[in-house]
Amino acid sequence: LANRAFHPEDSVIDVSGVKIGGGHMGLIAGPCSVETFDQVLSIAKDAKASGANLLRGGAFKPRTSPYSFQGLGLKGLEILCAVKEEVGLPIVTELMSTEYLDIFNEKVDLIQIGARNMQNFDLLKQLGQVERPILLKRGLNATYEEWVMSAEYIMASGNENVILCERGIRTFETFTRNTLDLQSIPVLRKKTHLPVVIDPSHAGGKWWLVEPMAKAAVAAGADGLMIEVHNDPENALCDGAQSLKPAKYDNLLKQVKQIAQVV
Ligand code: PEP
Ligand code: MN
Repeated sequence: LANRAFHPEDSVIDVSGVKIGGGHMGLIAGPCSVETFDQVLSIAKDAKASGANLLRGGAFKPRTSPYSFQGLGLKGLEILCAVKEEVGLPIVTELMSTEYLDIFNEKVDLIQIGARNMQNFDLLKQLGQVERPILLKRGLNATYEEWVMSAEYIMASGNENVILCERGIRTFETFTRNTLDLQSIPVLRKKTHLPVVIDPSHAGGKWWLVEPMAKAAVAAGADGLMIEVHNDPENALCDGAQSLKPAKYDNLLKQVKQIAQVV
């Protein structure tokens, strides 16, 4: 179903009125984790003023250590909804368990499936039941074929609105958190008709790598960018080191828009 051979034109995914794909850029910005209402509100206002069209924020966090901050859960989702109400940006947040499928279907504009759940086939099959589009992140060590097959699970279950998100893969390099695979953009756009969004934040793990990689991604034909933005990265509860301050994000989008015009 994802194969370009049977669907030559680019898919355009409608996320509560925001189009992604076929020349429409999804500009997703926000903190790694929802911490407080004021934090998310402040970041959302700044990001929207810079040109972001979707707000991200993790309520349920898949942390490596059980002793790390696990997210605010449903309270975090409520904060996102309250900020959406105030700022008017559709929201993107990660679903980790089928337990919350109905509430996500009701409240979340774009449901994110994280790298660690890319092959949680039971979860993927259940996504056929929801009407909301899905942002499917690439697994830490998934091949293109495995990633596309995971998209296929969702599509075959009845939900064809899938956006792929490259977020860096595990390599032998340890200086960066992951290695951003920019080749995934032309490869997946050739093999599939689905939009491809790049997350340079989780790829590099360092804020100063975000701008050059985001620009390269847009030059390579990405359909969007998902970027972690935080108003106080030094004190962030999660992923502060890779988060841009709002002013840096603003500067980045100005450059990205120029590159997008040339591409
Ligand atoms: C995230 O986007 O906050 C996240 C946890 O990403 P990933 O699943 O790619 O690690
Ligand atoms: Mn994060």
